[in-house]
Amino acid sequence: MSSDTQQPDVRGNRLDKDEIDNNFSDLHPPLSRSEALIAADRCYFCYDAPCTTACPTGIDIPGFIQKIRSDNIKGSAHTILRENIMGGMCARVCPTEVLCEEACVRNTHEEKPVEIGLLQRYATDPVFDAQSQLFARAPATGKKVAVVGGGPAGLSCAHRLATFGHDVVVFNRDNKPGGLNEYGIAAYKAIDDFAQKEVDYILSIGGIELRNGETLGKDFTLGELRKSYDAVFIGVGLGSTNELDLEHESMPGVGSAIDYIAELRQADDLSELPVGRRVVVIGGGMTAIDIAVQSKRLGAERVDLVYRRGPEQMGASTFEQDLAKTSGVIIHHWAKPLELIGDKHVTTIRFERTALDSSGRLTSGGQQFELNADTVFKAIGQTLDNDVIDAGDLDIQHKRIIVDDAGKTSLDKVWAGGDCVAGGDDLTVTAVQHGKVAAIDIDRYLRQG
Ligand SMILES: Cc1cc2nc3c(=O)[nH]c(=O)nc-3n(C[C@H](O)[C@H](O)[C@H](O)COP(=O)(O)OP(=O)(O)OC[C@H]3O[C@@H](n4cnc5c(N)ncnc54)[C@H](O)[C@@H]3O)c2cc1C
Ligand code: SF4
Repeated sequence: MSSDTQQPDVRGNRLDKDEIDNNFSDLHPPLSRSEALIAADRCYFCYDAPCTTACPTGIDIPGFIQKIRSDNIKGSAHTILRENIMGGMCARVCPTEVLCEEACVRNTHEEKPVEIGLLQRYATDPVFDAQSQLFARAPATGKKVAVVGGGPAGLSCAHRLATFGHDVVVFNRDNKPGGLNEYGIAAYKAIDDFAQKEVDYILSIGGIELRNGETLGKDFTLGELRKSYDAVFIGVGLGSTNELDLEHESMPGVGSAIDYIAELRQADDLSELPVGRRVVVIGGGMTAIDIAVQSKRLGAERVDLVYRRGPEQMGASTFEQDLAKTSGVIIHHWAKPLELIGDKHVTTIRFERTALDSSGRLTSGGQQFELNADTVFKAIGQTLDNDVIDAGDLDIQHKRIIVDDAGKTSLDKVWAGGDCVAGGDDLTVTAVQHGKVAAIDIDRYLRQG
């Protein structure tokens, strides 16, 4: 170990405020009107459009692009938001390169899809800026639904239920609504407090009461909700971070990527946020890429990301992996952490090479190497909070709630969706779709009863 790493060097003000502002500016700046019209003109307006099928919320993409061409921006936004009320955030955060834009037939001829995400943002931004209400509530039904969790799944469900005329109470553990849109998404993807702007828009439909700081499993049980409400939707996300299962994991300098990102997202002045000089990230998904890129953009001198398998197996898309590389993150594949080394603070982490055996299972490759670090971030996935698991008699598998296609759980009157359910792909757009689908099924159930 070199002597310069004996002392941890975790501090703020590594970069001045102008550099930080530049590093955390909009990742994909919005299109101007002329850029949007040119982009819209590239759409072939396919019949049975593959992009619409590839969008988890089934937005009529040719339909909204056609309206942009005829300068009907409000109509275009309505086409988007009636399927996906978080169409503004999804325009910023969807990995379009593996969703709608991957399916675009323009890829076949020109290897460049129509810029669907940017066009979606072009159409929806004015609606959120002006907070112009595009939806109306149906007459009150007198039914009351509890939604647990104020993230994309919960808010999407609450909004759709409100449009059906039901009254909704959203119980949300955090002090602000929005879930990971507010506390998790990389800061340069959702600048200018867009997450809260979108939440304000969603709540402005009326009929939704938001109760922040109220936690299922601590402040109330599922049984209580089932007694007091006509139906319950659970959209609590995944509250616990997976551990490395190594000795010294609680040593200073070793922490959860999710916790640090939440701190970053809530910081008033990013230039003052303490960041390590040498940061090592363990994981291969979106969270790992986000913490690595953001650490670099905060001024960390060196950021190493270590993943136990190859680039193809990483949860992060090729675009995200490239973003990390162009931001200066060093990615190491086929290695897993063996030992956290340090006295009062982590200084080094030892890794072992990995490989696949003949049956495709991950095995140890034998060789070892070390990386110096004053900060180690764990980003190896999350699971459902035990509080939630213990709060009711839900069918759970691999620490996720089991639901059917309509989001119905094994319990009478209880639906669930978003990251907390089994079989999803842990994306904002999927959580929004789960909330919407469950709301439609809840409405059907309430009208039968
Ligand atoms: C770091 C990071 C970056 C990401 N980046 C992207 C991205 O770029 N693009 C993308 O598509 N997806 C991204 N995702 C995934 C996306 O954020 C999630 O799939 C999405 O937020 C899931 O929505 P959700 O409503 O299920 O859960 P969450 O967003 O986690 O919201 C859960 C809500 O439930 C509340 N809650 C939790 N427990 C309780 C309880 N016991 N009682 C009451 N309320 C409770 C919380 O306060 C929170 O508001 C990212 C995730 C992470 C972690
Ligand atoms: S919601 Fe996401 S996947 Fe669907 S069309 Fe918009 S950007 Fe594409």
